[in-house]
Amino acid sequence: TMKMLAFRTTSSPRWWPMSDVRTDPRTQRTLDALQRGLRELMPTASPADIDAAAKLAAEKGMQGKFAIALQNTTQQPLLPALENRATREKLFKLSLTRAEQGGPNDTRELIAQIVRLRAEKAALFGHDSWGSYALVDRMAKKPETALGFMTDMVPALAATQQREAALLNEMIAAEGGNFSVEPWDWYRYANKVKAERYELDEDKVMEYFQIDQVLEDGVFYAANQLFGLDFKKRTDLPVYHPDVTTYSVFDRDGSELGIFYFDPYQRPSKRGGAWMSNFVDQSYLYGTKPVIYNVLNIPKAAEGEVQLVSFDNVNTLFHEFGHALHGFFADQQYASLSGTATARDFVEYPSQVNEMWATWPSILENYAKHYKTGETIPAELIAKIDAASKFNQGYDFGEVVAAALLDMKWHALSVDEAAKIRTAADVDAFERRALEELGLKVDLVPPRYRSNYFNHIFSSPAGYSAGYYSYLWTEMLDRDSRKWFRDNGGLTRANGDHYRATVISRGGTMDYFEMFENFAGRQPDVTPMLEARGLTGGGGIEPSGEPIMEAVGGK
Ligand SMILES: [Zn+2]
Repeated sequence: TMKMLAFRTTSSPRWWPMSDVRTDPRTQRTLDALQRGLRELMPTASPADIDAAAKLAAEKGMQGKFAIALQNTTQQPLLPALENRATREKLFKLSLTRAEQGGPNDTRELIAQIVRLRAEKAALFGHDSWGSYALVDRMAKKPETALGFMTDMVPALAATQQREAALLNEMIAAEGGNFSVEPWDWYRYANKVKAERYELDEDKVMEYFQIDQVLEDGVFYAANQLFGLDFKKRTDLPVYHPDVTTYSVFDRDGSELGIFYFDPYQRPSKRGGAWMSNFVDQSYLYGTKPVIYNVLNIPKAAEGEVQLVSFDNVNTLFHEFGHALHGFFADQQYASLSGTATARDFVEYPSQVNEMWATWPSILENYAKHYKTGETIPAELIAKIDAASKFNQGYDFGEVVAAALLDMKWHALSVDEAAKIRTAADVDAFERRALEELGLKVDLVPPRYRSNYFNHIFSSPAGYSAGYYSYLWTEMLDRDSRKWFRDNGGLTRANGDHYRATVISRGGTMDYFEMFENFAGRQPDVTPMLEARGLTGGGGIEPSGEPIMEAVGGK
């Protein structure tokens, strides 16, 4: 059977599952009214944005006007382009309250009901809360563990947010503005600061990354250096599209480990994003070796042109192959516990770790060569990319942490606690209290999704409920493991074999904490993740200046 456990979309930002939330018609009407005269209000919007707004209005029977559809997140992509501050505020507040307009599309009473019913269902299974029930086979095991881990980040986050806000206020004052930054202003000014400080020509970066070199001299080479694997291109195997290539994968002892299918390019009939899965699972019971595929959506170069890859896609390639390694190293009797068949708060860990080799100096030297000059990518360029990745994390990361905390707070409620939350006002009060008592400034950095439109956790029987923290959790494991590799000599066969023996050959057959301890010799630590995001030591918006040679943030 086919597993899609390791699925992820790679739209931007590429690691959050995207889904549409339809806008309340009443909200939409207000928005439509708001956006008449858009052309004057957002002179910095691209012609494509303005055309799209005109087209949407026309579809709604308002020829000659403009309309903006809300995106599923709290922040709206057009906000930075809106010149008029009052308009920014209106759009932002409509986003925050999109399903709090009263009437049949107000979701708040439903949320209270869902939370209560989940707590009751969990109680039938002997659990104190839905979170406790949902986490029973996850790595974190208990809501308190996930909550504690995120709560520990709050002081560093709050301090970073204050620093970032101060910097944006300077920019506002320098432009003659007489106000303090609010969330509806945030990206307008953050984008300006970013453009000033981290100007990066992504097309120039791409010139160092050709697809075949990235795969064979980068991704495969790293797997060879770390694990002793060898790869041989096959031309005799059936493929489902002419763009798909296949390789035999040979283990460190020369035996055949499995077969790898690589399907890198966009095409009209293909689903967006990037993912890994198995055609055949490893299983001793069935005597099967893994057949694994990686799918990406890299724009295909025109016929006869050199196929270049963006830096983001380079990371995605390493990421997806990290899942593939997890599948190839499977060493299990049962397919149901084999390879990537692991908990949601674990499965993205090995794939993220593999991203670290994308910018490891000896790997870069082997594959990141300019397509015309053959020159290796300059270390300063990689350092610049890394510094840019630390920018604005107080907000970018803060809104995600707030959403993950909100999810877990809702699902850590007992039946009695949940029963006390009934009305729309109760839901609002709970949300605010849940975040503020942790020290988060929700008016400055609201959660990426407020409860009333938190589709991931409320739109299906379980969905991502009590699970949104998984992205942060696996990032913690990833960053802490990178630190272990760096502290222990980096890219060596001994380190690769140790990591393989303790973690990525184990599938879902062991307690995940035990796996991590066998690997690192200790419990996971959140500090390396905070450092990687520039949230420690007064870093934040200021680049630390120290070139950390590793990939820009995974999830
Ligand atoms: Zn992944």
